[in-house]
Amino acid sequence: MITLKQALKLNKDELNKFKEELKAKIEDRPELNAYIDVNSTGDGVPIAIKDNIQVKDWAVTSGSNILQGYIAPYNATVIEKMTNAGLSPFGRTNMDEFAMGSTTESSFYGKTQNPHNSEYVPGGSSGGSAAAVGAGLAIAALGSDTGGSIRQPASFCGIVGMKPTYGRVSRYGLGAYASSLDQIGPMTQNIEDAAILYDIISGHDEKDSTSTDNNDKVSDKLNATRKLKVAVLSKHILDASDDVKKAYKEAIEALEIQGHGIIEKELMDAKFDISAYYITATAEATTNLARYDGIRYGNRVTGTNLQDTYIKTRSEGFGDEVKRRILLGNFVLSSGYYEAYYVKAQKTRHIIKDQYNAIFKDVDLILSPIAPGIAPKFGEFKNPMDMYLSDLYSISVNLAGLPALCLPINKSKNGMPIGLQLIAKAYDEQTLFDGALSLEKQINYQK
Ligand code: GLN
Repeated sequence: MITLKQALKLNKDELNKFKEELKAKIEDRPELNAYIDVNSTGDGVPIAIKDNIQVKDWAVTSGSNILQGYIAPYNATVIEKMTNAGLSPFGRTNMDEFAMGSTTESSFYGKTQNPHNSEYVPGGSSGGSAAAVGAGLAIAALGSDTGGSIRQPASFCGIVGMKPTYGRVSRYGLGAYASSLDQIGPMTQNIEDAAILYDIISGHDEKDSTSTDNNDKVSDKLNATRKLKVAVLSKHILDASDDVKKAYKEAIEALEIQGHGIIEKELMDAKFDISAYYITATAEATTNLARYDGIRYGNRVTGTNLQDTYIKTRSEGFGDEVKRRILLGNFVLSSGYYEAYYVKAQKTRHIIKDQYNAIFKDVDLILSPIAPGIAPKFGEFKNPMDMYLSDLYSISVNLAGLPALCLPINKSKNGMPIGLQLIAKAYDEQTLFDGALSLEKQINYQK
């Protein structure tokens, strides 16, 4: 597959021809189910779009039954920015319902396969975007990351996935899951493409009050020769599989060869991250999903009166995982438990942020796993708790609002990709991309 950088040099005719071929290739692989639709708008470089990002006049359903029939009335800011830069939305990609999940098994449209082995999940929630890029069925894609949903599927599908600093990319037109954690980001074949796409979609937006007014760009200043200080977390990785530990060791060696300094650091027990995240995310999700009542958006199941219509619509429209989180979110926000759960989670969130700030006094980047192992097989998570616990390496980054990037390092014995993430200080995307580029060069990952 040509890279984004190469595709940006093609003329209109070449792009149209490329799109025809791409469409045929996608239609040849229906079993992958990376795309739920192959819509195309505009004549720019085609970029696959996760089904929770609004493209004017396209259906947008966040992988849910409740939003069937809903057509986006306007473009998300990222789509406007892409279009202005010569890119065009091409195809909607599959995802966990309302971005809640780590496997893409909870989509209304059925599961997406991992392009490396059809018995394995592609990761989630941006599993369709990751599978599309990993299978050579997209030049690049947009995903969203609330607690790892760009980086973790990137790792499982052997591609690059980047979550920007909170506020760098406008959330206007993104279907909200947990508003204080959500960020849209690039999913690409390599680091340089990720930097190019990040530059295109980032920047201030007056339509998003949490958007920063900092408009720094990174791609024309990429520098893989900077010597950086990188924190490694020997204790933190003890919970990872042997495959991941091996990849971690190789990445440290590669960083050393590239002349970076390695410094040992520690993070607090990830069980606090998981509790703080699942309380915060479900509390915000409960509030955000209250708007889907059958009156204003998508599907309606008409009941005997208004209340009955709400109940029937929501009972039939939402899947089990979404319902579970709505219940949990309402519980942690209820008057009797608000202090004990929600407020405590916010305090924990501050402690998590403080520990990162302390580490970043001494280093430029942190090297961390993104998931405890390779992609699980379909149905491997026997209960929701197993799935939540598998988020231990990804979610603290969102709680602290930091930028992070996952890149492929090697493969397990059975050929499944393993990625690792680099984490940087808030707003220091330049260092994140510079360090990642140097690691990518040294590792020389073979697809
Ligand atoms: N797996 C996490 C969750 O289910 C993260 C999902 C995401 O980043 N959207 O909440």
